[in-house]
Amino acid sequence: MRALITGITGQDGSYLAEQLAADGWSVFGLIRGQHNPKRAWVQSLVPSLVLIEGDLLDQSSIQRALVAAEPDVVFNLGALTFVGMSWDQPTLMTEVTGLGALRVLEAIRAVSPRIRFVQASSSEQFGAARETPQCETTPFWPRSPYGVAKLFAHHVTVNYRESYGIHASAAIMFNHESPRRGEEFVTRKITTAVARIAAGAQESLVLGNLAAKRDWGWAPDYMRCLPLIAGQDEPDDFVLATGEAHSVAELCEFAFGIAGLDWRDHVVSDTSLFRPADVPELLGDARKARAVLGWEPTLRFDDIVREMVRAA
Ligand code: GDP
Repeated sequence: MRALITGITGQDGSYLAEQLAADGWSVFGLIRGQHNPKRAWVQSLVPSLVLIEGDLLDQSSIQRALVAAEPDVVFNLGALTFVGMSWDQPTLMTEVTGLGALRVLEAIRAVSPRIRFVQASSSEQFGAARETPQCETTPFWPRSPYGVAKLFAHHVTVNYRESYGIHASAAIMFNHESPRRGEEFVTRKITTAVARIAAGAQESLVLGNLAAKRDWGWAPDYMRCLPLIAGQDEPDDFVLATGEAHSVAELCEFAFGIAGLDWRDHVVSDTSLFRPADVPELLGDARKARAVLGWEPTLRFDDIVREMVRAA
């Protein structure tokens, strides 16, 4: 089997490439920029990985990548992933995260409609969620330019399935974390700060909204599910989540506690870090993925935070 992964230098792309290569797949990654600083990093993680230069902003480069890689499956993990920046650069966010998926699907249509497609959809599409927990039939109500762009990509995935019969599926993934998560995300911001504060290298940690709740899972678990989705007889959409939600304050309490620290001595909440519109709570119901794919997350909140503090 042959895979082309967009977003190859990200947390998810790197885990998926490792897993697929270990399972005997030929793995190709679309990489942006001739001097991408993460090229050597991802190449050393997966020596057999073949990198192809291209950009989700450039239709013809995606098409050429498909011709070169001849993939059975394209995993579209390429996006600008940080919700916070999406208010500052909403047009770029939409171009990459939203239209990027459309460009890949158009390239599949042009090169070979038999290529399967898996879109990394997001729990941010549920936004101000209409029901709790959220499952595949929960209405979407995105609350950020990121959520809106992901929702466009999601609908276009479903639309290309229905219009052209492309085997296009979406994994609606709730937050998924690991030591490879960027420090702009709250889990990594907190766990690296705990390590620095415990070592005396930092005194305090400034955060935004401490009341927000998320369903935090383990990124490698979620990546393990994507080939299962691609391998189904029929394309479909699946929520991937742990079914457990915790607040940012609880995350602080637990992470600082691991280092024997009281989070209240170190954490400051600053309203300037609040978002124009936040998503108060996300909680996923992954019963469909469990029933149809036999997928189960292996790590839960406590294990994930412990692992991230340990690796910091
Ligand atoms: P998201 O769910 O994809 O937006 O993942 P993030 O890790 O960026 O944010 C999760 C939640 O943590 C959101 O509700 C944020 O508003 C909240 N949060 C509180 N303080 C911070 C902070 O300092 N940085 C980030 N990134 N999020 C914060």
